[in-house]
Formats: sequence, C-alpha cells, structure tokens
Amino acid sequence: MFDAANDAHRRYNPLNGTHVLVSPHRMNRPWNGQVEEARGVDLPVYDPSCHLCPGNKRVGGEVNPPYSGTISFPNDYPAVLPPSPLSPSPLSPSPLTPSQKPHALFAAHPVSGRCRVVCFHPRHDLTLSRMSIPEIEAVIRAWRDIYHEQGKMLLHSGGGYVQIFEEDAGLATVLKSLLVAYDNLFTTPFPYSMGIHQSPHPLNPASHLHFHFYPPLLRSASVRKFVVGFEMLAEAQRDLTPEAAAEQLRALPKTHYAEG
Ligand SMILES: [Zn+2]
Ligand SMILES: [Zn+2]
Repeated sequence: MFDAANDAHRRYNPLNGTHVLVSPHRMNRPWNGQVEEARGVDLPVYDPSCHLCPGNKRVGGEVNPPYSGTISFPNDYPAVLPPSPLSPSPLSPSPLTPSQKPHALFAAHPVSGRCRVVCFHPRHDLTLSRMSIPEIEAVIRAWRDIYHEQGKMLLHSGGGYVQIFEEDAGLATVLKSLLVAYDNLFTTPFPYSMGIHQSPHPLNPASHLHFHFYPPLLRSASVRKFVVGFEMLAEAQRDLTPEAAAEQLRALPKTHYAEG
C-alpha cells in the first residue's frame, strides 16, 4: 500500500498549482560531494564597515540615523524605479518592442515600483530569532506600514494587489518560535531568504497568509543542497517529506541554543 512517508510521490501545491517530487526513500543515501565547514557565526554588536548599522554611511552616500529600533528606508539600488508621469500603465495590454511595434517574438512590459529596506534591529549581530517579541512586533508593524503605503499608491495607479495583514502579537510569537527552532536545528544561525504571501487572494481560495523560508541547506549544517539538471528541467525534488520536516522542528528545544 502507498505510504507517503516512505514511497516516492508527487506532492501538489494548491497555492501555485505546481508539483514537487518527494523521494523519502533517498534520505539515507551516502554523500561523497562537497562538505561545507560548519561554524558558528560570531558577529560584532556594531560593525563600522556595515552599510546598515546605525550612524554609518550607506552605499548611496546617505548616513543612517542613530536608530534604536526597526527602521525602513528606500533601497539604494532598487530593482525597479517609481513610475514617472510619462511611463505607461503596468497593466497596459500592448507589448513593447524596441521599435514600439508589437511583435510575437519580442514582448515586454514596463515595470515600475518601489523598493524599501527594513533594518530589523540596530544590533548588527541579532537576527529575528534572537529578538524579543516586542522587537519582532516592531518589524511586523514596519512591514504593515509598507504594505499600507504601497497599497494606497497601487489604488491610485489603478491596479495591483496589496492585502494589509493585521498587526498581531501572535504572529511575532509564531515567527520567534519557528526561527528559534531553525537555529537550534544545526545549532548555528540558520541562513534563509524569507518572503510573505498574504491572504486572501480573490482568484485562489486556497490562499492564506504564509511565510516562505528558503534555506541554502538541506541535509545538514555541512551538506548543501544543489539544484541539478532534473530539477532545472523537470520539476522540484526533495527527499524530506514536509511531515517529517515539521516533526523534526517540533521536537527541537524551545529555547535558543545561544541562550539555553
Ligand atoms: Zn550592521
Ligand atoms: Zn507562497
């Protein structure tokens, strides 16, 4: 009989309609590839060469205020620029070509927007996992303010989607406990890229507020996950089932290893 904990299967993601190939039987395969050095990161409280620390000069030349909590400012190297009065609407249906004439093989649309940086905490060495619940709540308020501000601008320009999530002490508690578990997993600061997808989306009833944490590591603190040909050309593949990963995280100590 099929057993999702041990047998290969494709797992459907209703949020984006994609599948992931799950191969739990491969979890114990030997690894002869690259091994990273597992080491704790010992960062200073203040780094004079850091562009984001309080009072320091940013890459764009501006000087950070001597901030004592969460701050937010425009990105010095934004991926997109604010719309100018002359720029076409991002929702404009006509594709652009270098000659401005539609062409089936060359379709491009203008993109405009704003990019902001949020510095979570004045201390260079702290990550969310080491911050207090009130400090994490300040970060959530900064996210909410940005969503609020961008939402108003989007409504003015006639399009887009921004759902403003509720400020919630519960959210700070959930984030804290998850990030403490991540750090405790390998007893080292867990590197990740994080993103928020909000809820609800009118076009997808399965949508709900959730956070994505993308780590560069998979199997241990010293064995990195490499994306190979099958995944680039066929579909995403993982060995660990989501249930086994959740079980492993739940079983970890609730206190941060550096504070235990
Ligand atoms: Zn810094
Ligand atoms: Zn998502």
